[in-house]
Amino acid sequence: MIPAGFDYLQASSLEHAASLMAEHGDDAKWLAGGHSLIPLMKFRLAAPEVLIDISRLPELRTLEESDGVLRLGAGLRYRDLELSSLVREQVPLLAAAAATVGDRQVRARGTIGGAVMHGDPAADVPAVLLALDATLVLRGRSGQREVSADGFFLDFWETAAEPDDILLEIRVPVLPGRGWGFRKFRQRSQDWAIVGVAVQETAGGHAVGLVNMGPVPLRARAVEEALAGGAGVAVAAVRAADGAGPPSDLRADAAYRSHLAQVLTAEALNQAGARG
Ligand SMILES: Cc1cc2nc3c(=O)[nH]c(=O)nc-3n(C[C@H](O)[C@H](O)[C@H](O)COP(=O)(O)OP(=O)(O)OC[C@H]3O[C@@H](n4cnc5c(N)ncnc54)[C@H](O)[C@@H]3O)c2cc1C
Repeated sequence: MIPAGFDYLQASSLEHAASLMAEHGDDAKWLAGGHSLIPLMKFRLAAPEVLIDISRLPELRTLEESDGVLRLGAGLRYRDLELSSLVREQVPLLAAAAATVGDRQVRARGTIGGAVMHGDPAADVPAVLLALDATLVLRGRSGQREVSADGFFLDFWETAAEPDDILLEIRVPVLPGRGWGFRKFRQRSQDWAIVGVAVQETAGGHAVGLVNMGPVPLRARAVEEALAGGAGVAVAAVRAADGAGPPSDLRADAAYRSHLAQVLTAEALNQAGARG
């Protein structure tokens, strides 16, 4: 498992990163924690000729709250989120989910931005960001733009980002004191989720995100609508797999994943204090 040859360039600032990307264009890829990209390159599923390392840019490591919004630099690592008192107090769902990713080494290198841009439906943070109604701040050739996390994930490993887009920041509404729940089923403690469920209480009800229940991270809209219509947790949770397309693989078939989604949704809703 040796990747094809590539050049490694280290960006010293956001402007430098942009100029390197402009110079190398289609041949280049951003490198953050490398925990998804490097394995892909080793399997020869990706073969960029140039890697532009953005992992040391302080501009991507910002973490601040203003006007009811938590602004998370795309280069923050899971460990930053797990340990940040700001994140733990203001958006505890995100801190709790980050603390379950892989092992400590993975959490020390993997970034929230890499997880979003890789677009893996089995990753935990993208489904959490859906439940949190997050906004992504991207910068590309056509300038800077904000896009909702909902609608950003198009298909397996495919997002609405342009190839040269850099994700600068993720914005999450601050929801202190509101209920939340996170449940993840896996065979061993540091495995990826076979299925995961994230629940966030909002002003209007509960938002539910699903991990590994389709080709993209999903919102469990049928559950949310059932709760909003007055159903209790047990009745609403039965709808968890409605409209999802869970994969079948060596770890679980689609029917078992659907069952897990129902069970974990009920648990996460109860953890979040949903009625029923
Ligand atoms: C052993 C192991 C166990 C793991 N377990 C889990 C788990 O339990 N749950 C889980 O969710 N994940 C898990 N992961 C994945 C891990 O979370 C990855 O680190 C993460 O998905 C990608 O983040 P990264 O910083 O490593 O991104 P990289 O691998 O550096 O990049 C991934 C992709 O995103 C692009 N990219 C990165 N940053 C930006 C940016 N700012 N703007 C634009 N594009 C960008 C890159 O070009 C690349 O295409 C595991 C990984 C390993 C190796």
